[in-house]
Amino acid sequence: MANSVKEYLAKGDFSFANPSSVHSSGKRSRQIVNETRDYLFDLFELNEKEWSLFFHSGATEAINSFFKSFALAQISPGRKALGIASSVDHSAVYQQLAFYQLLGMNFELIDVDSNGEIVFSMLQKKLNTHLSAKALFNLTWVNNETGVVWDLDSLIGSLQKFDREIFIHVDAVQSIGKIKDWWKINQKAHAYTYSAHKFGGPKGIGFTFLRKDFPLFPLIQGGGQQAGLRSGTENPDGVHCIKLALEELKSTQNMNSLISMKNSIEKTLVEELGDSIEVVGHRAKLRNANTISLVHMKRTADILLTALDLAGLEVSSGSACSSGSVLPSRILLAMGYSESLAKSALRLSLPLIPSADYDKDEVAQRLKTVLARFRD
Ligand code: PLP
Repeated sequence: MANSVKEYLAKGDFSFANPSSVHSSGKRSRQIVNETRDYLFDLFELNEKEWSLFFHSGATEAINSFFKSFALAQISPGRKALGIASSVDHSAVYQQLAFYQLLGMNFELIDVDSNGEIVFSMLQKKLNTHLSAKALFNLTWVNNETGVVWDLDSLIGSLQKFDREIFIHVDAVQSIGKIKDWWKINQKAHAYTYSAHKFGGPKGIGFTFLRKDFPLFPLIQGGGQQAGLRSGTENPDGVHCIKLALEELKSTQNMNSLISMKNSIEKTLVEELGDSIEVVGHRAKLRNANTISLVHMKRTADILLTALDLAGLEVSSGSACSSGSVLPSRILLAMGYSESLAKSALRLSLPLIPSADYDKDEVAQRLKTVLARFRD
């Protein structure tokens, strides 16, 4: 969590009043929300005449809102919705498939290749099978499991060449602080969604930029807050923390140094353990600055994670079920990895702003030492 956010939360000087109240405390709460709104419009260089901004509980809510309301709006005779996503999108997107099927709507998953790059040529065929349906496409800018970055400009440009209106939602959750110039969104999609806990803010708060001409029928209805886009009493402190975290990131992050730290750790691992590990997506055109995603050829992730944890290394696996046993990562399976390799997925995330005492050589050394024990 960002230091400025920790300090704010520790101080406890919260704005308890409802920003919709007209009394002085309410107005102060409203001012706090508005300051962050103005900050975000400036930072992302968006024009308030063309874009709306609303806060929510995080990307899962926003994605559900988009996909579900889009499908529900098409429920009438002769109309259909078509949801489109890739097979490596986050579960919040992937799970919409079942909802669309329940409603008798269409949902298509586009494949990726072994580098995690979308197989765009599949799309035309999929679109042709649903000629009259209204289409909503989720594009994930940066993959949360592999760190593979898609070229949004080129993908959105290609989508706009189809002789058909396709609404585009960008899952931009993993972009902030993890790719260069993350604030320069190309503004060609209809919506961009973010979650604060991915860039140093608290959990349970996020925001979406939405083009004013996007036909969003709000899924969450109630008191009409946030211009009716997302009803429910706003969370001024959470909203304020978004601004604190982004200000801190913008003013203190050294992206080039983060990239070289990650490259250096990866290089050590590949040089020393190339016979038992592989970096996922290593041939992709672009990967993010802080995710090291590996498969291990000899052991499943549960065994490795325990050994890494004992060595003080907090590493994640691709996927774990509630019984604690490791399931194959859906993302790696989609990239063509075998089931046994997909069960051995490891993900190390470097801190976006490494502290002065973060020693990349020490991290690489410890990773190498633990993983070397399992190379046979
Ligand atoms: N999309 C991506 C790419 C994510 O990485 C995540 C969370 O990890 C989400 C969506 C869902 O975000 P949240 O858990 O904040 O709702």
